[in-house]
Amino acid sequence: MFESIKQAVSLVKELEAKERIQSYVLTGAGISKGSGIPTFRGEDGLWDTYDFEEVATLEGWMRNPEKIWLMYQEGIHQIFDAKPNAAHKALVELEKNGYCHYIITQNVDSLHQKAGSENVIEVHGNIARIKCIICGKFQQLKETPKIVPPMCSCGGMMRPDVTLFNEPLPEDEITKSFEIANKANLVLIVGTSAEVYPAARLPSISKKNGAKIIVFNFEQTEHVNIADSFIEGKSEKTLPIFIEMLLNR
Ligand SMILES: [Zn+2]
Repeated sequence: MFESIKQAVSLVKELEAKERIQSYVLTGAGISKGSGIPTFRGEDGLWDTYDFEEVATLEGWMRNPEKIWLMYQEGIHQIFDAKPNAAHKALVELEKNGYCHYIITQNVDSLHQKAGSENVIEVHGNIARIKCIICGKFQQLKETPKIVPPMCSCGGMMRPDVTLFNEPLPEDEITKSFEIANKANLVLIVGTSAEVYPAARLPSISKKNGAKIIVFNFEQTEHVNIADSFIEGKSEKTLPIFIEMLLNR
């Protein structure tokens, strides 16, 4: 692990000697696992406990909003209680020191913002933000709603502002992500596989433009195929070491 981190650090330093760093960090469920946030897919995934069609599509959702809201109550509760871990904190340091200009996250848990990162782009929405299905008004939840489903003042039902499976991703965030991916010369991929759009596309676009790619993950993913450096391990262990070494501390 130390050897691969060392190699990644030299890669960044070499790049820095040649040009000004323009970078983004792409994050996924893996970074929040260490904060106790359950992943939606895979082993023990939330969606394994529930019927996928029912909870992850708007149709299923509309058929039985109360049931789905009860599930979300549980999810939101866990997220309100969750604390950023060492990986989230390391990314704040990275941002402060000019090595991370944007975090593009697929997570809906606000942990990057809680840690103190400033430029966070949420491409799958935010679970603690709800929106009215009729007038589109947003509300930021501070605690778990007591009555479900929560209703808007217009009489419409509120739903969590997360992207469900048959829905388009938030347009502004996606456009911005592609602009960032096009300009970057350094990409860190943390705790995400290349299975879901746009995570599957962004790094390849950057790579085509000559960006260096560093992957942090506890397992091999598709991204490793285009990586200049792969650091295997839990990101809450590897990222802090990477940053300490990068900042020569
Ligand atoms: Zn409304």
